[in-house]
Amino acid sequence: MNIMKTYNFCAGPAVLPEEVLEKAQKALVNWENSDTSILSISHRSKEFADLAEQSKQNLRDLMNIPEDYEILFLHGGATMQAVMVPMNFLPAGEFCNYINTGHWAHKAIDESVQIGDTRVIASGVDSAVNTDWPVDPAAAFVHCTPNETADGIEFDTFPQTDVPIVADISSNILSRPIDISRFDMFYAGAQKNIGPAGITLAVIKRSFLEAAREDIPLMMQYKKHVKAKSIYNTPPTFPWYLAGEVFKWVKAEGGVEEMARRNAEKSLYLYDAIDNSTLYENKLPVEVRSKVNAIFHLKDDALTDQFVAQAKSKGLLNLKGHKSAGGIRVSIYNAMPIEGVKALVEFMEDFEFKNK
Ligand SMILES: *Cc1c(COP(=O)(O)O)cnc(C)c1O
Repeated sequence: MNIMKTYNFCAGPAVLPEEVLEKAQKALVNWENSDTSILSISHRSKEFADLAEQSKQNLRDLMNIPEDYEILFLHGGATMQAVMVPMNFLPAGEFCNYINTGHWAHKAIDESVQIGDTRVIASGVDSAVNTDWPVDPAAAFVHCTPNETADGIEFDTFPQTDVPIVADISSNILSRPIDISRFDMFYAGAQKNIGPAGITLAVIKRSFLEAAREDIPLMMQYKKHVKAKSIYNTPPTFPWYLAGEVFKWVKAEGGVEEMARRNAEKSLYLYDAIDNSTLYENKLPVEVRSKVNAIFHLKDDALTDQFVAQAKSKGLLNLKGHKSAGGIRVSIYNAMPIEGVKALVEFMEDFEFKNK
């Protein structure tokens, strides 16, 4: 049987490196010649402790995370972090600042509002283009979303402020070098660029951690998770294992610098095709176009569903835009090869020609 080559542009859970999946397939039955499935390794065992330590060290190396930052592997996705951040770092009677660049920033704001005085100080694409946000020096922290997965917006400049910056980098983590020292904390759900859904990274500077509250439920306390080395309760062991394998893969492929080179090449190839077309358009300022989630609209929106369906029949999967943005979204994380983008652009040109 001839199986069609497919490329999966899903925003998350996203495509993972094939080598990693093949290794994981074996580990499901027999992990590292232990005659035990990776699914059935005790999280309290020496073997798992080694795996945990190695994955943490590899992440530290890859992202150049300074020693005075704690690395946590938690449950609950980025959404749980949007809850835990204000729960831990917004003391009673104080307030925090948020930057509302798009869908995911907005969702984080919705959570923080449930917890305390949450003040949005900048909104819209402008707040990604001009990042000189009016941070209130009295704010407990300022929260930002440097890659808006649904809106296709990415930015890399941050204000000089003494207020701690907390960043949700779920979708561009490991996609390029990021100067971690600008943040007092960042977090990322795994299923975009790290591994399967079910595990979340939270990285917190120790001096900031000291301010974390201890009058909230124990399971919500960052300090408890740090003390327990992320094993306060049973962690998602399999996603943790797989994330560790992806870290090794990124390292072996040349690290985040090489990922940045590839992602720049892929995204430029795609944006060029969009900009040179009379059917497709991306109206975002060029400097904030995301290198990992490219969006575009068909000028004749009635063609969008046909575009998605015909692409699917050619093996180009999951191109429908996020429901909040409409149009088309192309997620081209680390594990997407340039060949996938080239196949998509070829399809786009063909579709445009046929719909002239
Ligand atoms: C996907 C995503 C989220 C939500 O992640 P969950 O793991 O589903 O909670 C939050 N922020 C950003 C930037 C995302 O891309």
